[in-house]
Amino acid sequence: MERTELFKKIKRVVVKIGTSSITVDDRIAASKIDGFARQISALRNCGYEVVIVTSGAISAGAGVLGMKRSNLAIPEKQALAAVGQAVLMNEYKTCFSVYGSNVGQVLLTEDDMRHRTRFLNARNTLNALITMNVIPVINENDTVAVNEIKFGDNDTLSAHVYSLVEAELLVLLSDIDGFYNDLKDPEPVRLINRINDDIRSRAGGTGTTHGTGGMVTKVNAAEMIMRLGGMMVIADGSEESILERVLAGEMTGTLFVGQSVKINSRKKWISMRKCKGTVVIDDGAVNAITCNKKSLLAAGITRVNGRFVMGDIVDIVNSGDVPVARGIVNYSSDELEQIKGKKNSEIRRIPGINYFDEVINRDDFILL
Ligand code: GLU
Repeated sequence: MERTELFKKIKRVVVKIGTSSITVDDRIAASKIDGFARQISALRNCGYEVVIVTSGAISAGAGVLGMKRSNLAIPEKQALAAVGQAVLMNEYKTCFSVYGSNVGQVLLTEDDMRHRTRFLNARNTLNALITMNVIPVINENDTVAVNEIKFGDNDTLSAHVYSLVEAELLVLLSDIDGFYNDLKDPEPVRLINRINDDIRSRAGGTGTTHGTGGMVTKVNAAEMIMRLGGMMVIADGSEESILERVLAGEMTGTLFVGQSVKINSRKKWISMRKCKGTVVIDDGAVNAITCNKKSLLAAGITRVNGRFVMGDIVDIVNSGDVPVARGIVNYSSDELEQIKGKKNSEIRRIPGINYFDEVINRDDFILL
């Protein structure tokens, strides 16, 4: 299907602006933010609702304080973000005011996505901002985000935001004009419908020296979005009128399109959460959960990997380590070690185990 056809029904768009797209030598370049403000305002005038995810706080802080961001300890980077976030927001505010638009700062951590009530609170706030005709400008709350509660990069954050605001398209603006099978190719791949190991390995590991993401985090973000049946474009933020051209369906950048899926909002939320471990199940259990719509019982579990507690998200994988489903687990990894392979009648008799009929209830997992 043509892009113009695919994009026809798009109303809500998340635009992720990478550090390299708005800085020059660790300084926020107002002219670059102005370019995006102009394009986004034009899109809004055409009826699109736009949510921005922006990077650049740490680089901006480094610029203001005359420091290099490389080789800094985490608290120092967080301090740079504290300085830089204010500078960044001030530039967005100034640039958008020229076009008569208001912006609102929203800082999120992965922890805000983990708890369903906080997730819903964040959703309500973002929807309220959009209803008030204010453009949400989102970044990771770098000053408090340590490993445990961190998205880690804004490509991942923007995939979460996409799900949070139930957008129809995510545009990742970067310093590369798409996904290349081989960097020697004259053009990037234009359309990706499926992400396989080949694409993952071609995504490699390199990013720019400015941002945190690289092609790997972009492909991961695409995978998250495709699981929701959504669409994402990687495009070069420095190209003239790039956002308007992408939305017009022009053949630019790489478009990732997922297959349409019908899952409720809670299951979408589960699919976006970070996995804490995996449980390996036998073929009988694979059949039970995929074909017979059954819950996952301890009897079908053969191995447990990682450390997790009750309520965490785990991937359910088959004996070949291929992910089959993802869900909220009723037992900790320690408990699962004790009960794996056992029948419920046996588990009930084990002292100290807080008994549940299912390891993962079928309402609490999504098939992958
Ligand atoms: N949150 C970081 C910042 O504002 C950016 C992370 C990234 O580049 O992905 O500097």
